[in-house]
Amino acid sequence: MTASDAVAAAEAPSPVCAVCGAVATSPDDPVVLTTWARERDGERDTWTCADCSRRHARDIEGKLDVQWW
Ligand SMILES: [Zn+2]
Repeated sequence: MTASDAVAAAEAPSPVCAVCGAVATSPDDPVVLTTWARERDGERDTWTCADCSRRHARDIEGKLDVQWW
């Protein structure tokens, strides 16, 4: 294992949209961090890209209503 491999392994994987499969350019991209929706699903992080978050905002809110009532 090289030093660069160790650095890559330590970095977080690029977020992948759970809805459309889009892959974020970088997990450290501030645009991604502020526009993508991140949800905790057990020990995994589930991401939703900016487009899908906007498109499904109403659905997501509806589900939350059901879950949290
Ligand atoms: Zn998406």
